[in-house]
Amino acid sequence: SLSVKLDRAFKTLKGQGQITEINIASTIKEIRRALVDADVNYKVAKDVTDKIREEALGRDVLISVSPGQLLTKIVSEELTTLMGETNVPISLEGNPNIILISGLQGSGKTTFTGKLANLMKKQGRTVLLAACDIYRPAAIDQLKVLGEQIGVEVYAEPENKDAVKIAKNAIKFAKDNGKKTLIIDTAGRLAVDEQMMNEISDLKEAVNPAETLFVVDSMTGQDAVNTAATFNERLNFDGVVLTKLDGDTRGGAALSIRKEVEKPIKYISTGEKMDAIDLFHPDRMASRILGMGDVVSLVERAQQNYDEEEARRINKKIRKNQFGFDDFLAQMEQMKKMGSMKDLLGMIPGMGKAIKDIDIDDDSLKPIEAIIKSMTPKERTQPEVLNGTRKQRIAKGSGTSIQEVNQLLKQFEQMRKMMKMMNKSGGKRALANMLG
Ligand code: GDP
Ligand code: MG
Repeated sequence: SLSVKLDRAFKTLKGQGQITEINIASTIKEIRRALVDADVNYKVAKDVTDKIREEALGRDVLISVSPGQLLTKIVSEELTTLMGETNVPISLEGNPNIILISGLQGSGKTTFTGKLANLMKKQGRTVLLAACDIYRPAAIDQLKVLGEQIGVEVYAEPENKDAVKIAKNAIKFAKDNGKKTLIIDTAGRLAVDEQMMNEISDLKEAVNPAETLFVVDSMTGQDAVNTAATFNERLNFDGVVLTKLDGDTRGGAALSIRKEVEKPIKYISTGEKMDAIDLFHPDRMASRILGMGDVVSLVERAQQNYDEEEARRINKKIRKNQFGFDDFLAQMEQMKKMGSMKDLLGMIPGMGKAIKDIDIDDDSLKPIEAIIKSMTPKERTQPEVLNGTRKQRIAKGSGTSIQEVNQLLKQFEQMRKMMKMMNKSGGKRALANMLG
């Protein structure tokens, strides 16, 4: 029925206010939990959320966006900053341009070697791959199969057990055959050990690569950070490759590694296929870590569409307890500009499921609009003047019933009361209290 719809629509509108209050404290907690769940180490997660609280208190909250959502946006920005803002490209110096691939066994080195070669080939560079995993004959075959698949030559010496010599011969082969880039695939162990570290650092010293990349499996969580730190101590690598991000891992390792070793993440790997490679984008990883990509875009949309002047005007009215039906109508218009009500609510964390089966029809706002539009300017700013005769006139003019008009008035009154209460508790101080 219409009155149920009215009620629901109003709850929705009021819901904005409630989300505003409740979500601030819980969002901070939620964000910290999300970070830890996503394998960000606890200290880093705490640093981040402390900073966010500071940042949040300095910002004006738009009416059309709940502080919870705005906080999420701030968090996302903070994480992005922590992870380095922009992508850092690999070095293309040297002739040949030598790229050394390091990491534990199973981290995805050989697969990544093929992907990177494929990418560079597409960019018009001539590439040679060197098979320097001397321990497993299967490793050479694996690289050869990938090379064939992408049409890139592979240099190998199956009988030779000296990785340094193979690498040096590969450099000569690259020079003789006009290959501009040489990517060296190496052997790894299942865990960090001294022999592996010696081998890879000898190799690095011998070939003097323009770029040394450390490949790490994002599914290994906290271990990934420790391994990265150990490799970095010995190799002083230039960049990190995060693999297996196609799984359900949230990628918090990216943040912890970046904080711990202070080296940029340059590529991510998202599958076994040769085209499953991407440049690392800190902003996208931030949304992934938060698992709230949609919220970020909601906030962006709101900020784009929301007229700041209008926001300030309405804020002022609320502060002076002068919020009237005209302002209410203006708010509804603003919300409509942002998209459908259900879409908007669905973007709020935890709300998607809750409203899936509820019918939030944008049409349900129409009677409210009609009622307000049937009021005179005086009635809109001073609803107190609405007596029986006036209500009758409005109901008739808007095609609704007197009950519906009464209901809207009652709910509007409640909303004004809530605003008064918020005013009394004082904007920023209230926010500070809620943040704890
Ligand atoms: P390496 O020992 O470091 O050379 O690791 P490999 O390149 O041989 O990869 C080990 C396993 O992980 C193989 O089965 C790969 O197909 C798989 N793999 C590598 N990268 C990815 C990735 O990004 N996503 C998924 N799902 N699997 C991957
Ligand atoms: Mg390998």
